[in-house]
Amino acid sequence: MSLQNRDKKHIWHPLTQHKTSEGALAIVAAKGVYLYDEKGNGYIDAIASWYTAMYGHCNEKITSAVAAQMLRLDHVVFTGFTHEPAIDLSEKLISILPENQQKIFFNDNGSTAVEVGIKMALQYHHNKGFKKNTLVAFEEGFHGDTFGAMSVSGLSVYNGPFEEFFLKVERIPVPNGANENEILSRLEIIFSENDCAAFVYEPLVQGAAGMKMHSREGLEKILKLCKRNNVLCIADEVMTGFGKTGKHFASNHLNTQPDIICLSKALTAGMMPMGITSCTQDIFDAFLDDAIGKGFFHAHTYSANPLACAAAIAGIDLLCSKEIQLAIERIEAQHKQFLIRIIDHPKVSAVRQLGVILALDLKTEMERYGDLRNRLYDHFMTDGIYLRPLGNTIYILPPYCITNSELKKIYDSILKALKIF
Ligand SMILES: *Cc1c(COP(=O)(O)O)cnc(C)c1O
Repeated sequence: MSLQNRDKKHIWHPLTQHKTSEGALAIVAAKGVYLYDEKGNGYIDAIASWYTAMYGHCNEKITSAVAAQMLRLDHVVFTGFTHEPAIDLSEKLISILPENQQKIFFNDNGSTAVEVGIKMALQYHHNKGFKKNTLVAFEEGFHGDTFGAMSVSGLSVYNGPFEEFFLKVERIPVPNGANENEILSRLEIIFSENDCAAFVYEPLVQGAAGMKMHSREGLEKILKLCKRNNVLCIADEVMTGFGKTGKHFASNHLNTQPDIICLSKALTAGMMPMGITSCTQDIFDAFLDDAIGKGFFHAHTYSANPLACAAAIAGIDLLCSKEIQLAIERIEAQHKQFLIRIIDHPKVSAVRQLGVILALDLKTEMERYGDLRNRLYDHFMTDGIYLRPLGNTIYILPPYCITNSELKKIYDSILKALKIF
């Protein structure tokens, strides 16, 4: 029996309507930018498996670091114990994160990285004797599938059924260069009518919303206003982190630094699940007290798993290497040339690019998981390219090791799609 048929027996897949879905394609191996299915077909992983495998799949530097760690220390409780991989990783991360970040809290995925950020912010105010019960977020953001993260996400098929159980959230539009004053006065009202604890945002690029990009100056003004009102700024860099926007973190494009940063996805180079929530010294200090209960009593069993730490350390070394930094610049330059070719295409309504992220919107209206979107997906797979259009948005977020000829193959397939659809 094929893996695809065996899969159908017991497996419940994420983001899948099993009544109508055809079944999952079994992937048996991956190397560099390629995924291989059970028939031996290769596909260029043009979205780096949800922006994780940024240095390529089964990268030798990452696999050997994890293998070496595996033979030394597999896992140990992270309360009362510590270990070198966690310490090394904390030092490396602090050296590349925005300057004000001082403390590293470990968890195990992107949603929990955000969940922890929200809980840190709420308890920060609580410990200081303030009751703050409201969060602020962008209308169309995506922050994950746990309840806090769902609450601050824009309403969609992901979180709709759970709306009545959400935390209290006020939503604002993203700054588009023309609506800043409107947003700022709306925020002033929100701050005066509610007790706001924190503002949660994906800096500059909203991933799941369709790689939507917003104004840097506008975001800067929003963050400044938050700071003036003692509203903590929580940057969800789960998608944008580790070089994708052309800088190590999207927050590096801004002058105002977040109080809390959430990391996952490319953190471990696509090798192991891990999330991290970093924060400032000021936030950490608000949890110091003789009373035990003022500490942060949040833990995940696999916190700071040494194998994940080893993968992350090797990943950061790669990120900071000359080779990867040059690759990022090269991909950006290729993307820019392709954008010029399609910007005036009659079937393209908008194009955008930041770092290695490139997105275009088709003029055709499309349901997020509708038929046309599925045919578009099939078109790319037939061409040997794994792309996941989001509604009428086609986006590329390739591993940094992709070559110019592989990029050209993707661009050509997109041009072909523009002819067909
Ligand atoms: C993917 C993502 C998350 C959720 O991460 P998971 O590891 O899937 O739980 C949160 N925020 C952003 C911006 C993301 O892209």
